[in-house]
Amino acid sequence: MNKLLLKDAFGWGIALWFIGYVLGFVLFAIVPASMIGWVIMPIGVIITLWVLLKKVKGNSFLHYFLVAIVWTIIAVAMDYLLIVKVLHPVDGYYKLDVYIYYALTFILPLLTISIKKRHGEEQIAVVGELTDNPNVKVAMTRLGRGLVTIADISKGEIIARFDGEIFSAGMASELPNDQPLYVRDHAVQFSDKQYRWSKFGTAMNHSCDPNCGINGTGSMFTIVSMRPISKGTELTFDYEMTEDSDWRMDCKCGSPICRQTIGAYANTPNETRKKYGGYVAKYLIDKYGEAK
Ligand SMILES: [Zn+2]
Repeated sequence: MNKLLLKDAFGWGIALWFIGYVLGFVLFAIVPASMIGWVIMPIGVIITLWVLLKKVKGNSFLHYFLVAIVWTIIAVAMDYLLIVKVLHPVDGYYKLDVYIYYALTFILPLLTISIKKRHGEEQIAVVGELTDNPNVKVAMTRLGRGLVTIADISKGEIIARFDGEIFSAGMASELPNDQPLYVRDHAVQFSDKQYRWSKFGTAMNHSCDPNCGINGTGSMFTIVSMRPISKGTELTFDYEMTEDSDWRMDCKCGSPICRQTIGAYANTPNETRKKYGGYVAKYLIDKYGEAK
């Protein structure tokens, strides 16, 4: 489980439960005991939605599904340990309001990711620039400029050709990184000491759970779709599919399997290498061998 998921699931799960617990004590002084649950519920829903929309950072269904499970387990377990066992409520505690509270704890994260997904797709503003693929356009995404499908595409389609200027450097840190090109951050490595530019490939964002990969050998390579991809999806590749120098990036891809720091294929876990199959730069397979 990665740090982001730990924070979202356990950190916020415990924090939200504790807010409800404290609210319960405050309300105990002013509201009849049987009404406390019903009074806390709307307040709790508002706070929970705020946390889900503003604080929980994942962007996949799996992330929110795991958050929903952990939050519900925390609510049920903490209620039992710190309310039922410690306070011994005279009414036995478990009534309709409590069951609705458990259901909401599970449903709200799933509802939020559905809304985020729909909203996110609408928010991707297609800039309209044509790319190397007629079904892919440049768009403004969550992470800035990126490539997005404007129609369903199939597996193996060329997304971007790396056919631009070739740069040579002993290490990535020796490459120029001035505007407007930011060569160091955007050119893609294709041999131990060579990097290549692509007009559209350089617009692609990284993901630790990518849908595209590298195809081709030496200086002649392209980024292709690794599976069928539906319309309105951002296209990403894993920057470690090509890089193997001293370049590093703090990853904000938001995937539940995010590796947090991205840089060299030397650091790519074997499981990940295996998953990518042949979709990595040829020089890396020559250097490190096929993942087993
Ligand atoms: Zn990541």
